[in-house]
Amino acid sequence: MKAIRVDKPMALEIVEIDKPAIATPYEVLVKVTSGSICGSDLGIYKGTNSLATYPAIIGHEYGGVVEAVGDLVKSVKIGDLVAVDPVRPCGHCYPCTHNRENVCSNLEVCGVHLPGGFSEYVTAPAARVHTVDPAKIPADLVCLVEPFSIGVQVNHRARIEKGDLVLVMGCGPAGLCILQDAKARGARVMMTDILDARLEEAKRLGADIVLNVKNNDLRAAVDNLTNGEGMPVVIDAVCSLTSFPQALDLACPAGRVLILGLSATPSEVASVAITKKELDVIGTRLNNRRFPEVIATMEQGYYQPERLRTHTFHFTEVAQAFDLILNHPEEVRKVVLSFA
Ligand code: MN
Ligand code: ZN
Repeated sequence: MKAIRVDKPMALEIVEIDKPAIATPYEVLVKVTSGSICGSDLGIYKGTNSLATYPAIIGHEYGGVVEAVGDLVKSVKIGDLVAVDPVRPCGHCYPCTHNRENVCSNLEVCGVHLPGGFSEYVTAPAARVHTVDPAKIPADLVCLVEPFSIGVQVNHRARIEKGDLVLVMGCGPAGLCILQDAKARGARVMMTDILDARLEEAKRLGADIVLNVKNNDLRAAVDNLTNGEGMPVVIDAVCSLTSFPQALDLACPAGRVLILGLSATPSEVASVAITKKELDVIGTRLNNRRFPEVIATMEQGYYQPERLRTHTFHFTEVAQAFDLILNHPEEVRKVVLSFA
């Protein structure tokens, strides 16, 4: 079978490798139908992902059709359309035994530490394979369950409830998934970006307030909206060195600030910015068994995965897809790779 492999930074190729086989009675063999490209795939390609080992079969956003199941698999059957959760926890460390397996001390993620989903076939433990209704989530969009699981995880960590006023900084794919899920939870959502086209998309997807922070003062807009109090929930989906301290500043006393960034470079943050307002500063990473919830909410029509996809390429054209994302990031939300 064919797979997309990054041999070393900036060296991408389509390789012919052995088709995986079911190795335990609990495993499932999936014929991949679609995979979507994430910023972290690009990071492995560019050599900026410190967690990556080479050579790597990339891709952690993927799904397909079940081709074979192990003897003890009951949850899915041959022919089912499925989304595959790429998180592979150890099951016995502190976070794993405290219902926090997405931050397992020995965590492995398919497409980062383990072979990923940008290949014609994958195997996965049945517990990580989730059936979708193909009438509601088509095979070419099933890969987008994973990006929405990031948004759902953020909103769980943020304890978003009906009526909450939420600021999401950044209208990239993560911000747009957080937005759609926060709206499904009944929150009021303000979105920021520096590109009008992205803000228009956020508006289309249900944002209550949008603000271009290139030519508007965000602090003044937040003060205006909240009588100077600040935002109860601030989600930093910009993840720059300055957005972290800015998020702390924009939160109201007793507020929650959600941090998604993976930068190893320090931001400048004064401790008083957190203590004075007794902020909850909350990290969020990957997803903690959120696929069933994501699929149910998507099938009920609360998310618009078809609007997240802006481009489709056959997987053998992945080099062109990467070029497009690198050269025209403003045009791209998600590029979906077709494995048909
Ligand atoms: Mn991703
Ligand atoms: Zn663990």
